Amino acid sequence: MSAYRAPGVSQPEIYDRLRAAGYRLTTPRRVLVDLLCAADGPLCAEQVHAQVGATGMNLSTVYRNLNRFVDLGWLERMPGLEGQRRYRVRTGGPVAQVLCLDCGRSRPLATSLAPLQEAAAGLGFCPESLQVTLSAHCDHGCDALAQVKAG
Ligand SMILES: [Zn+2]
Repeated sequence: MSAYRAPGVSQPEIYDRLRAAGYRLTTPRRVLVDLLCAADGPLCAEQVHAQVGATGMNLSTVYRNLNRFVDLGWLERMPGLEGQRRYRVRTGGPVAQVLCLDCGRSRPLATSLAPLQEAAAGLGFCPESLQVTLSAHCDHGCDALAQVKAG
């Protein structure tokens, strides 16, 4: 049996965690939480900022809040292109993705990560969280690749 089970969090739990940590639920912060909860994939800080800019929140405030949310345990970082960090709400299970090195597009991988967790457990480690990113080149004819071929 795998001992791994990171807790997923619901939106009301996120609000509770923020309040418990002493954060006021300002309108911009609520907008940020709502956006992250509604996202259908990981977002980088610039993408988040582009969508909450109308609230007057600047990019450094977006970064600061994202880092706080990670510290509070309900948001997790995932690798993106060229060291970029992307963020998604913790879902409660291990995460596997394939990432295109040309265009940065990513897709979730439907695969079992149990062998990795078992291998870690076999070495005496109790897995806390598990993220696997497979770097690849997509065959979607992405823009970056098209430019390389044209050039
Ligand atoms: Zn691509």
